[in-house]
Amino acid sequence: MASSTRAFDLAVIGCGIVGAACARAGARAGLRTIALDREIACGGATAAGMGHIVVMDGSEAQLVLTHFSRQLWRQLIPELPEAAEYRSCGTLWIAADDEDWELARRKQAWFAARGVAGELLDAQQLTEAEPCLRPGLAGALRVPDDGVLYPPAAAQWLLRQAQNAGAEIRRGVTMTHLNEQAIHLAGGDPIAAGAIIVATGREGPELIPEIPLRPRKGHLLITDRYPDFLRHQLVELGYLRRAHAREESSVSFNLQPRATGQVLIGSSRQYSSNGGVEPAILGQMLARAQTYVPRLRALRGLRAWTGFRAATPDDLPCIGPLPQRPHIYAGLGHEGLGITTSLGTAELLMAQILGSAMPIPAEPYLPARFIAEPGTMEHV
Ligand SMILES: Cc1cc2nc3c(=O)[nH]c(=O)nc-3n(C[C@H](O)[C@H](O)[C@H](O)COP(=O)(O)OP(=O)(O)OC[C@H]3O[C@@H](n4cnc5c(N)ncnc54)[C@H](O)[C@@H]3O)c2cc1C
Repeated sequence: MASSTRAFDLAVIGCGIVGAACARAGARAGLRTIALDREIACGGATAAGMGHIVVMDGSEAQLVLTHFSRQLWRQLIPELPEAAEYRSCGTLWIAADDEDWELARRKQAWFAARGVAGELLDAQQLTEAEPCLRPGLAGALRVPDDGVLYPPAAAQWLLRQAQNAGAEIRRGVTMTHLNEQAIHLAGGDPIAAGAIIVATGREGPELIPEIPLRPRKGHLLITDRYPDFLRHQLVELGYLRRAHAREESSVSFNLQPRATGQVLIGSSRQYSSNGGVEPAILGQMLARAQTYVPRLRALRGLRAWTGFRAATPDDLPCIGPLPQRPHIYAGLGHEGLGITTSLGTAELLMAQILGSAMPIPAEPYLPARFIAEPGTMEHV
């Protein structure tokens, strides 16, 4: 049977939140866009994540991308449907002791120098701001413009916006391979596209083996509804140290108020590909959380689950063209920040594809940092 190739300006592979944001941006820029997923859209890590929209300062480049992306989310607030459950609750970075307090002061100064608002709360102000915390903590840095949302609903909305702007969305499509400027599908005609964005999350290496990704498992637990229990997203100040640690497994205190009144308790990090809930890790995570909020013991846990973050060696995502196959663009490796950085990723990729001005410097995130140019030595 003769095959007929359908042509698009942009094909997005993977409809998690990163692919959904890219499809929306492409269609709204006037590109004939198709977005494909081999399963349901907005499953994957997007359905498992916590939905904290946060400026993170693991590195200068991480701060720039998260800050830019948070601004984009804040601009969308008036348009987001209630189902996305966006709440501008702010983050409290909790200082347990004097050493943490010094960290809080340094973090505030670093943020302030980069235009990120934050205010220091002393112990008394912290108790007033968040009464569920145990007494005796040193204080906190409050970052008022951070927020939380419900990731699968936000991603579905981005995808609907893409559709409304003319994008074609196809689910349940298995891709066999990518070559030249076409996507080859199992049991279907090839799809030709001027640009192809690979946004397949932890499965990225199946299509782009050159990008070094490792699955990093995380546990979360959600409680029953306790509407007045928690007001802010709470994170321990040592979170970044633990999140970026190269240990095989770590837990840190991270608590989120859901719009439903539920409390989402996180989180753990493990280099593992076993997707099951591990009672020992869950126990460590809860014990850590209870050192900050002892009253958690009295709440009823409803469900625990795991998800996988796609981690790169330098904790920054890969956003941009592949040096040897420049019509293929990566939108991969967002680790624990892909909900936040999905919108910024889409803007960067659109600027690269359309040749327009970069909204922020693109270099720190280019996949080329992991991929040797033809004829050069491996550099990573
Ligand atoms: C426990 C946990 C907590 C987190 N908390 C936060 C948080 O608070 N804030 C934050 O910003 N981020 C958080 N994250 C990170 C965030 O969830 C991810 O970075 C983000 O969801 C990644 O989105 P994605 O679109 O890249 O990947 P995914 O959501 O995994 O989507 C990839 C899609 O690609 C599809 N796919 C895969 N292979 C193929 C193929 N060959 N062909 C077609 N389709 C394919 C899959 O079916 C899937 O739908 C958390 C993650 C975890 C695990």
